[in-house]
Amino acid sequence: MISSIEQAYNPDQFRKQAHAVSDILGAYLEKSLGDPDDPVFHSFEPDPLFEQWEQHYSDKDETLQAWVHKVIDSSIHLHNPHYMGHQVSPVLPMAALADFVGSMLNSGLGVYEMGSPTVAMERVVIKKMAAQFGFDDQADGILTSGGTLGNLTALLTARQIKAAYNVWEEGNVASQPPLGIMVSEEAHYSVSRAAKILGWGEEGLVKVPVDGRKRMDVSRLKECYEDARSRGIHVIALVGNAGSTATGSFDPLDALAEFAREKGLWFHVDAAHGGATIFSRRHRSLLKGIEAADSIIIDFHKMMFCPALVTALVYKNGRDAYQTFAQKAYYLWEKEEQEEWYNLGKRTFECTKTMITLKAYLVLKFYGPSFFEDVIDTLFEKAKEFASLISKRPSFELLLPPAANIVCFRHIPEEDKNLNTHNSRLREELISGGQYYIVQTQFGGRTYLRCTIMNPFTCKEHFGGILDALGELASGFAC
Ligand SMILES: *Cc1c(COP(=O)(O)O)cnc(C)c1O
Repeated sequence: MISSIEQAYNPDQFRKQAHAVSDILGAYLEKSLGDPDDPVFHSFEPDPLFEQWEQHYSDKDETLQAWVHKVIDSSIHLHNPHYMGHQVSPVLPMAALADFVGSMLNSGLGVYEMGSPTVAMERVVIKKMAAQFGFDDQADGILTSGGTLGNLTALLTARQIKAAYNVWEEGNVASQPPLGIMVSEEAHYSVSRAAKILGWGEEGLVKVPVDGRKRMDVSRLKECYEDARSRGIHVIALVGNAGSTATGSFDPLDALAEFAREKGLWFHVDAAHGGATIFSRRHRSLLKGIEAADSIIIDFHKMMFCPALVTALVYKNGRDAYQTFAQKAYYLWEKEEQEEWYNLGKRTFECTKTMITLKAYLVLKFYGPSFFEDVIDTLFEKAKEFASLISKRPSFELLLPPAANIVCFRHIPEEDKNLNTHNSRLREELISGGQYYIVQTQFGGRTYLRCTIMNPFTCKEHFGGILDALGELASGFAC
């Protein structure tokens, strides 16, 4: 054996490296959670950063440990309680280990023989989630790589079942009315992207306005539906938000389900962010009606605290999933026409699917419903606390009381200013200081600062701190 190859696979060397890396990650975790001065974010200009890494690449003497330190030190730290940005979770450390195991074993999950134990675990995960959402044992589904792919997969299934012709084989044919779906104007962009990938264009994306709390306005459903019909669109599906990405608002799913049933539409619920609310006895009424959905997605890498990406797509009637891809691949599966639950690739986009199942299985088995109930209750409570703090400060304006763990607000300076540029600049300066990380969003042409409380270690002093910091920056602008 060539010595470089032998060395690369040396088990003793692997053990040493793995210990060293886990020690570094343990130290990262300790510092992120416990050191109030640890920067959450590093602001780099893209071009100099590229040059820096290009130079680094040529450093042949660097050790693995030094490289890992460098990656950690220059990355954003989601475990830092000052992180209140996008909806990505501070990973449960044990769930990261599931990825580690999966990366080493690297069994593909498309074909049963390749990943059999994991394929069985995947079915357990899906069945548990289905039962949690109130489905019976007809339910089934798959895990896939992200909510974006989950939404697209669900809409592909909806299309094949509701199109009234074999659209998979025939395509979008001119002799048939063009297809379309109804979505909230606050739907995640992956839903509109899916509609466009399916070839339905802007016309096929029937947007329903929202009410003052950014929930789909049910009183407008009928008019939007009829307007689409009058334009010759064959509406096949209705997509509900649970909750929405921008504000965490939950559409009234029971009313949506009723409308979908009346019109014979496929009812899909995008619960990528808020699906875990089902574990909370206090808050699960936000999901009332979800049990009537035809399909649901939930991102495990959001409020289920797994490393990205892993999304469950659950169908009320598990057999529907086999309609998604009516495609034949004889070299992979012997019995092409059969619904073999264990050959997952028949129902997934992925051909080689990584062992994403392990982390979803691990968090359900080792943490379980009561843990997720605690986390959801904690995060939702904290968001309310933050919102009430904002309401008490006259120089800040809260967009709306949070339904979940997303808080949108803006700073209103005393002097007359363009509020959009003022708030964008505030955010820019706040995050470039490295002490806090938040994002921003737009509603009706107005810029708001947006905080998602993802980290259960974020508390009142951080909320006070961020408002103080913003106030100070703003008074700096004034002079
Ligand atoms: C995050 C999110 C998505 C997209 O999921 P990815 O896993 O990022 O692809 C879709 N819908 C909603 C409501 C989301 O919050």
